[in-house]
Amino acid sequence: MKVLVIGSGAREHALCRSLSLDPDVSELHCAPGNAGIAEVAETHQVDALDGTAVTALAERLGAGLVIVGPEAPLVAGVADAVRAAGIPCFGPSKEAAELEGSKAFAKDVMAGASVPTARSYVCTTPEQVDKALDAFGAPYVVKDDGLAAGKGVVVTDDVEAARAHANACDRVVIEEFLDGPEVSLFAVTDGETVVPLQPAQDFKRALDGDEGPNTGGMGAYSPLPWADPKLVDEVMRTVLQPTVDELRRRGTPFAGLLYAGLAITSRGVRVIEFNARFGDPETQVVLARLKTPLGGLLMAAATGNLADLPPLRWSDDAAVTVVVASHNYPGTPRKGDPIEGLDEVAAQDAPDAYVLHAGTRREGDAVVSAGGRVLSVTATGSGLTEARERAYAALSRIRLDGSQHRTDIAAKAAAEA
Ligand code: AMP
Repeated sequence: MKVLVIGSGAREHALCRSLSLDPDVSELHCAPGNAGIAEVAETHQVDALDGTAVTALAERLGAGLVIVGPEAPLVAGVADAVRAAGIPCFGPSKEAAELEGSKAFAKDVMAGASVPTARSYVCTTPEQVDKALDAFGAPYVVKDDGLAAGKGVVVTDDVEAARAHANACDRVVIEEFLDGPEVSLFAVTDGETVVPLQPAQDFKRALDGDEGPNTGGMGAYSPLPWADPKLVDEVMRTVLQPTVDELRRRGTPFAGLLYAGLAITSRGVRVIEFNARFGDPETQVVLARLKTPLGGLLMAAATGNLADLPPLRWSDDAAVTVVVASHNYPGTPRKGDPIEGLDEVAAQDAPDAYVLHAGTRREGDAVVSAGGRVLSVTATGSGLTEARERAYAALSRIRLDGSQHRTDIAAKAAAEA
């Protein structure tokens, strides 16, 4: 099987790494990729948002499967273009990807499927905004109704800040605050059969202790020793299967990766958001633990054959990933700084500690920073404590001027395990 992956983040590097270990994957390509992906896949400079160009590349390569990583190409209809050319594609249609692309659409689907979520109002005028803020009280949760890479959400006790964010957006969703820990649960689906992966937790805030602004994600771990072992079954029954069934019923079947962002509240599990693709950085830890070959799994989803797939196999190991971000992230990041120490980590390379690239670029012999999140240092171990020690030990070998990372990824869960 020849596989083409679309995207250029650490998530796509994780996907490519797992695909490169799948004996049924004979050729691996990625567009546009990054400096790390180029070590496991052949990279191609194609605009990931251009469905015609992506399809032409897939045809030229003779790809038997295209995997779309990020949300933007999905919302732009890249998966539809690939499928229209008769090439199996892992990733939902433009219409089904609205589950992530529009928070208002997601709320409507959840209402139709009786999926538990925060009560909410969709507002388009300052009057509606004031009414909604009053109705729920502090803490206020205000979400831009569109794609914002995890950065369009403001959670604040300050009503002025809530109002200012709301009025800066054309259309906002204002909703009740959900207390309790967050869990990300991914499911692979062909539009009918749903196969859940293992839950993970990510760290959205920039700074230790969950301080600072929201980011795309600063680290993750899996498994969750504190979570109820029945959590996955419950979410399958109350969230994942009903949502997939509802989308099919509406004539917009969802085939790809359904990501449920959940809050485990005192009143039960609630959906915070859906995403239409693998989450970054949770993918790094979930795939580190998946023993079933990834290419076969995603191919089964892309071709409607998940029902025939044997149960997934998982490693008992724990996995931790820590994101190294550029100076000033999540603000406009500084770029072009050399990254040193990558060879040292690779030389140590046990398969249990490795670096997944995100915003990196090769410049001659050097690898330099080229984006906000630069690297995901990922490690596995017999428990979270060992996995985190290995991840931070590998990270300590990497030098990137002005870079930042959190020092407390998985610390609490490891201490409690
Ligand atoms: P979203 O883009 O909807 O995932 O929101 C980003 C982050 O904002 C989430 O991961 C939560 O940490 C926080 N958040 C979103 N909605 C709520 C809510 N209703 N209650 C509390 N926190 C929320």
